[in-house]
Amino acid sequence: MQSLTNPELFKEQCLINDRWQDASNGARIEVTNPFDDSVIGHVPDLTEDDVNAAVAHSAEAQISWAAKTAAERGALMQKWADLIDENKEDLAIIMTKEQGKALAESRGEIGYGNSFIRWFAEEGKRVYGDVIPATKSELRHVILKQPIGVCAAITPWNFPAAMITRKAAPALAAGCTMIIKPAVQTPYSALALVALAEKAGIPAGVIQVVTGDAAMIGNILTSDERIKKLSFTGSTNIGRKLMAQCAPTIKKLSLELGGNAPFIVFESADLEKAADGLIASKFRNAGQTCVCANRVYVQASIKDKFLDIFTKKVEALKVGNGMDKDTDIGPLINEDALDKVEKLLKDATDKGATVLAGGSRHDASALTYQPTVISGVTDEMDIATEEIFGPVAPIFFFDDEAEAIKEANDTIYGLAAYFYSTDFAQAWRVTEALEYGMVGHNTGMISTEVAPFGGVKQSGFGREGSKYGIEDYVAIKYWCSDVR
Ligand code: ADP
Repeated sequence: MQSLTNPELFKEQCLINDRWQDASNGARIEVTNPFDDSVIGHVPDLTEDDVNAAVAHSAEAQISWAAKTAAERGALMQKWADLIDENKEDLAIIMTKEQGKALAESRGEIGYGNSFIRWFAEEGKRVYGDVIPATKSELRHVILKQPIGVCAAITPWNFPAAMITRKAAPALAAGCTMIIKPAVQTPYSALALVALAEKAGIPAGVIQVVTGDAAMIGNILTSDERIKKLSFTGSTNIGRKLMAQCAPTIKKLSLELGGNAPFIVFESADLEKAADGLIASKFRNAGQTCVCANRVYVQASIKDKFLDIFTKKVEALKVGNGMDKDTDIGPLINEDALDKVEKLLKDATDKGATVLAGGSRHDASALTYQPTVISGVTDEMDIATEEIFGPVAPIFFFDDEAEAIKEANDTIYGLAAYFYSTDFAQAWRVTEALEYGMVGHNTGMISTEVAPFGGVKQSGFGREGSKYGIEDYVAIKYWCSDVR
């Protein structure tokens, strides 16, 4: 790849145990840049035997990795994080080329992703057990927390680095090993991260990346008895399927699935601030995140004023090549994503919605779409229930708080919700009433390594980040001892 300071970060092979290798039958998959469809390179289309070999190495490595102290593991992870910081610009370039997002966002994601490695490098030292007061004088009740074992991660293309570090960092800190299957569209960020882990001295087999056919690899990662846990981020449909596939071996699961985030603007809100929060939440990564505002509810009493402020901000956003420094919004990931946005928009306008900004493809490249605002959206439109995953803000109107809450909760999803209000009592009421795993009040950006990220309802379960995040990678062992 051109323009990298450290070209060795661009890996077209997989690291299995201590060897960078092609698929054993030589098969490869082409990876393209979504902005201009140019070929970036190829990655191995691994065979079942190759993936099984990775599982065997992971199982072997887990024993000695778990035997290290948390401080020893933490020191290696901090070294890994130092190398990520040193190579931040190259990692951001790799990400923008394979994913399309604006370079500033890629830099942000590398920093954000790395914060999980540093956080868990420390948090691993604080996995405390418990001693429970005796029920009989001769008995002792002791709780040990031990690494769960070999773990697997299946990750999506929208955050090619952070979705990996959010899973790998707590796993490694707890003494687990990890096999990662990145999305086929964005394998190079994953491979570069693992190259740096290797350079940092993290032992062979502890962290490996397998590329190839998603269904085949998914079958192995969900059915192999040596793998004790699967962490998945992606669509609810694939999540359901993986959960079913994990049932025969009763694998522990973390699922971070789709969202249909409501963004409510109450009449007491600071409208300027609410519009900025909505821009940040809605248009980040061209609208392709699971916590992007998907339905915007504006109190009818302030609708004209708010829409005027918001629409002007949307019209100022610049669409283009993520590598250009003034680009705010890059391309969508593929033609299917663009087709879905067009279909949802057509359905909404056919049923009476009004386009206030954008409304069609952008001429910057084949996969770019104009940042779009539509108003007068109703529940009858598909856009009210489907995850848009594109740069379209659908505006609904409501009259009172009860109506806003009812509408906001009327979905199978429960990941993130946002609201803007300066009424303190309302803030408590609304936060408690929203059926979501995360609530942003007067902010559109909620994610950080120190707080638990995750959903309820059909958005999944398990938490990433914070002291809660490491719990997903430890098993509780109860020791009952008779000391007579
Ligand atoms: P998205 O719509 O974000 O691509 P998906 O749920 O389709 O979400 O993909 C998320 C991850 O799941 C990707 O790594 C993808 O390759 C993987 N994946 C897709 N289908 C399967 C499957 N049948 N088994 C295992 N993994 C899969």
